[in-house]
Amino acid sequence: MELHHQLKNRVEIIGNLVLDTALHVGTSQQVGRSDSPVIRTQFGEVFIPGSSLKGAFRSKVESLAHILDENAWVCFLQKAGGSSHRQCLTTYSKGATEIQERADGAKPEELAEFLEENLCIACRLFGGASWRSKVLFDDLHLLQSYNFPTELRDGVGIDRDTRKAVEGVKYDFEAIPAGSRFQFRLVAENLGKQDWALLSIGLLEMLQGYLSLGGKTSRGLGSCHLETEKLKITNVDFTDKQSALNYFSTKPSAVDEPPEEWFLKKLNTYLNQQ
Ligand SMILES: [Zn+2]
Repeated sequence: MELHHQLKNRVEIIGNLVLDTALHVGTSQQVGRSDSPVIRTQFGEVFIPGSSLKGAFRSKVESLAHILDENAWVCFLQKAGGSSHRQCLTTYSKGATEIQERADGAKPEELAEFLEENLCIACRLFGGASWRSKVLFDDLHLLQSYNFPTELRDGVGIDRDTRKAVEGVKYDFEAIPAGSRFQFRLVAENLGKQDWALLSIGLLEMLQGYLSLGGKTSRGLGSCHLETEKLKITNVDFTDKQSALNYFSTKPSAVDEPPEEWFLKKLNTYLNQQ
C-alpha cells in the first residue's frame, strides 16, 4: 500500500451535488424557528458538513467492499458480527504508538507490509484514530447565493419497540428542499489501486443516486446524486515528471473521459489484477 511520507499522486474531483429529496442534517447547537434546525454556517447559510458526506460515503463503500474480495476485511463490519478476529490498528488507543515504533528505522516497504497486515481496507483509505485519511471531503455549500428558504416538516415520536406513534409527542424539523444544489469537492492523495477501486465504488454509487445523507433517511430524506455532466477530475502522478509539470502549469488538464468510464476503469484495473 502507498504510505503518506512521499506525495506520489493526487486527484481532485469537483462537481455539483443535487438533492433528490429534502435533506436534514441537524445540529444541537443552534436555536432556530424549529424544534430541530438544520446546521448552518456562522453567516446563517445552510451547508452539508464534509464529515457527514464522508461518513455516509464510507458506510456505503464498506458495505460494498466485498466486490473487491468476498472476504475483504472491514473492521467496522467485523464488530457488527463478522467472524474474523483480526484487530485493526485504528480501533485501539495504542495503534498510533505501534505504527510509530514500526516506522522508526524501518524501510518504507517494511512499514507498508506491516500496515497492510494490520489496517483493514476501509481504514487504509478513510483513516482512523491512528492513521490519517487519504481522502478529504470539503464542506458542501449551496451554489445559489441568495438566502435559501428551508421547509418545516412535522414529525411524530415513534416508540422504538412497538413502532407506533406515541400520543402527544409531536415535533417539527427543518429540511433543505429537494432540488437544492451544492458544490462538491473531494481531494485524495497517495491512492493505490485498491484505494482507487474503493473510491470508485462510492463515486459510482453517488453518480447513480444511491447515497443518502443526513438524518431521517428511513422516511425518504437525504437522497442525492452527483451530476455526471458537471464532474471535473484533475489527476496528477508526481512520479512522472511531465505529469507534474503539467499539473503545476497555469492550466492543468482535466481528465476528458466520461467520469463513469474513468471510475469503472479504475475498479476494473484492480479486479483484473486479483
Ligand atoms: Zn479498520
